[in-house]
Amino acid sequence: MAESVELPGRLAILPFRNKVLLPGAIIRIRCTSPSSVKLVEQELWQREEKGIIGILPVRDAAVEAPSAGSTSSAGGGTNLGERSSKTQEETSDSHKLGGKNQQEVIHWHNRGVAARALHLSRGVEKPSGRVTYIVVLEGLCRFSVQELSTRGTYYTARITPLEMAKAEMDQVEQDPDFVALSRQFKATAMELISVLEQKQKTGGRTKVLLETVPVHKLADIFVASFEINFEEQLCMLDSVDVKVRLSKATELVDRHLQSIRVAEKITQKVEGQLSKSQKEFLLRQQMRAIKEELGDNDDEEDDVAALERKMQDAGMPANIWKHAQRELRRLKKMQPQQPGYNSSRVYLELLADLPWQTASEERELDLKAAKERLDIDHYGLTKVKKRIIEYLAVRKLKPDARGPVLCFVGPPGVGKTSLASSIAAALGRKFIRISLGGVKDEADIRGHRRTYIGSMPGRLIDGLKRVGVCNPVMLLDEIDKTGSDVRGDPASALLEVLDPEQNKTFNDHYLNLPFDLSKVIFVATANRVQPIPPALLDRMEVIELPGYTPEEKLRIAMRHLLPRVLDQHGLSFDFLQIPEAMVKLVIQRYTREAGVRNLERNLAALARAAAVRVAERDHAVPLTKDVQRLDSPLLDGRLADEAEVEMEVIPIGVDNHDISNAFRVASPFIVDETMLEKPPKYDDKETAERVATPGVSVGLVWTAFGGEVQFVEATAMGGKGELHLTGQLGDVIKESAQIALTWVRARATELKLTTAVESNLLEGRDVHIHFPAGAVPKDGPSAGVTLVTSLVSLFSQRRVRADTAMTGEMTLRGLVLPVGGVKDKVLAAHRYGIKRVILPERNFKDLAEVPAAVLSSLEILLAKRMEDVLEQAFEGGCPWRQHSKL
Ligand code: ADP
Repeated sequence: MAESVELPGRLAILPFRNKVLLPGAIIRIRCTSPSSVKLVEQELWQREEKGIIGILPVRDAAVEAPSAGSTSSAGGGTNLGERSSKTQEETSDSHKLGGKNQQEVIHWHNRGVAARALHLSRGVEKPSGRVTYIVVLEGLCRFSVQELSTRGTYYTARITPLEMAKAEMDQVEQDPDFVALSRQFKATAMELISVLEQKQKTGGRTKVLLETVPVHKLADIFVASFEINFEEQLCMLDSVDVKVRLSKATELVDRHLQSIRVAEKITQKVEGQLSKSQKEFLLRQQMRAIKEELGDNDDEEDDVAALERKMQDAGMPANIWKHAQRELRRLKKMQPQQPGYNSSRVYLELLADLPWQTASEERELDLKAAKERLDIDHYGLTKVKKRIIEYLAVRKLKPDARGPVLCFVGPPGVGKTSLASSIAAALGRKFIRISLGGVKDEADIRGHRRTYIGSMPGRLIDGLKRVGVCNPVMLLDEIDKTGSDVRGDPASALLEVLDPEQNKTFNDHYLNLPFDLSKVIFVATANRVQPIPPALLDRMEVIELPGYTPEEKLRIAMRHLLPRVLDQHGLSFDFLQIPEAMVKLVIQRYTREAGVRNLERNLAALARAAAVRVAERDHAVPLTKDVQRLDSPLLDGRLADEAEVEMEVIPIGVDNHDISNAFRVASPFIVDETMLEKPPKYDDKETAERVATPGVSVGLVWTAFGGEVQFVEATAMGGKGELHLTGQLGDVIKESAQIALTWVRARATELKLTTAVESNLLEGRDVHIHFPAGAVPKDGPSAGVTLVTSLVSLFSQRRVRADTAMTGEMTLRGLVLPVGGVKDKVLAAHRYGIKRVILPERNFKDLAEVPAAVLSSLEILLAKRMEDVLEQAFEGGCPWRQHSKL
């Protein structure tokens, strides 16, 4: 802020056209006219100290002053000399008088403001070489002009400062009028500052000014800070009396304040009048303009519009729709390159794709037709089909009945999946299979929250999106293969899915919205019941499918698999036949499974091989020999035209059916044994070969693949009486081995395995027991009797019967306890061509489930004690009998 300065008696004068510099104001001007350049050069640029010049307003001739008082004209008025008129055209810095008449009268104001140069910069214009100055000036104080004269090309003036002396000022400050006026001015100024502060968030510094600068100076500074017209500026300049100045300033500041307020009100009013949609429209227009400017693609916008349409058609419930709209608004505001755009979009796509209401129309259920359909699709399985029909009947009577979830349990390839899809077909619903095998993470079922990178919905929601209806038959495949670990428990999520009370509002973490699963019909499959958590099992009704006998497999193969396989290969029975005997051979020698999946695969391989043979044979046989009428439409036309055509080249890409038709000859090709892979994968001699040495016995176990034959091998070698076990064994089976060894050692003398003298069977030797198929984990108690048998065989050096397999848990005292999975085990023995099966006596009741055909081909031997097992396992009875005979 300018402090009081001593003004010289004469000042160089820089005229300001129609403009006033007030004390306290800072202004930047550019001097280009020769006179002002000269003035700046001489009075400011060439001086050592900061120079002071006078700024005197000049009224443009066109802007005739309404009041004459303070102005003067050329040649008259105040003490302006003659010469002044001569130099009139050079008086302006930026406001030139170019083209004006020389005689034109120039109106000088008789009061001005002394100004100090705060900054100077000199420039040379190219190519003219003209010098220009940029000057920053600060107004210091008012003066009045006594006499105006010229100095070279510019004016000077004799002046009198109009600044009040300190004493005078002190006196005025006591004046109550002044006090009142200054208070009023400060209040108005304060108000203006607050308004500006709100608008521009500035003003901190202005407030400080209000407290530190004397009020009469403030008046000038405030007025100088906003635009007022020239007359008012002059009026302000002429307000030498501080009271007049304050009241004038208060009036001007107040007016400015009002004008800001009015402007604000108008803006608000206009804004209010713009409805929300108009505003949106405007904003969108702006956005489009910005995008165009940026060269952004408009396709994206079309896509979003398409997405919006899709969402509108998705039939979302009101609450979901609201949420979706919110998300869509967010998406619209984003740029495609922005992080989160894609994830938001993918999410909305999912919302639009999910079948919120879409359902396949359930047709009136015809139970008879459903039964026929099940019979057509599946051979046997009488009990299972009966249960399915019951289930469907209940649904027919009470469509929204919350019956139990059917769970088909059985080895692979026994028709669990295809039964479930038959249920869907019978109900006229869509079918979707959700594989749960290996699912350990709860998020697989429930989805990941969208905060994760790469998050996605769970398998259920994903399945529903794929199937596109909200009432499909959903198969939860391999529900026993889910496990729990640190990532949560999928079973608990499944519990919610299967609970009719809770699944109305199933919450997928990704979706983060409730989805109604109550219309979905759930069917589950599992290989085994045990791994299914009890709470989950409780919600389901288990239907067991044990696996097929070779006879059943034969029927299934002949009726279902073969026609399908041939069809898949574009063949038919007219053209290729696989006799029953061959299928039987495939079942016996090439597959050893509970289900029929491998059988189907083998038949397919056979069909492929046969197709090649047939193709070769038909090309080799000249058709002219015995002219056959070929039915093929492919050939018909040609034969008509050219009767001699004997051979036809089948063009590449012709449908398989056409090939088979083209090669159709009188006798179909019959597959014989030579076409089967040699040597066969399995034969009946396997068991005999494996038990050819003492120490090996044949057990029956139960796995996820149904029943299996499990050999147990024992051997002894020099050592310290230790037992070694291998073959990926669990704790239970290891304990069974311990029990078996203990039992044999305890009975060693009795069994004549040792003499009374050297009663320790393990004296100087170790025993090693191995369960082949070492890579497959094994556990369970049912190998007890098999272990004892192999140990007795080892120590007695007698071979176990190759045609006999056994199963049963054994106690330390030698009692044989019942085991599970008898039906599967007996079926497995039958598959392996075993003739005799030793079972715990208390498993007798389970034999009722074994098909009669299998039972009749087997000799079932029931054992109560271990001795009974041993009696049956060895040729000619238990070894000790032999010994005792000797
Ligand atoms: P799973 O689900 O039990 O593993 P699938 O249902 O996939 O087995 O069945 C495998 C194949 O065997 C399917 O092609 C199925 O049609 C067929 N299949 C299984 N059991 C029968 C049956 N009883 N009658 C006809 N085809 C069957």
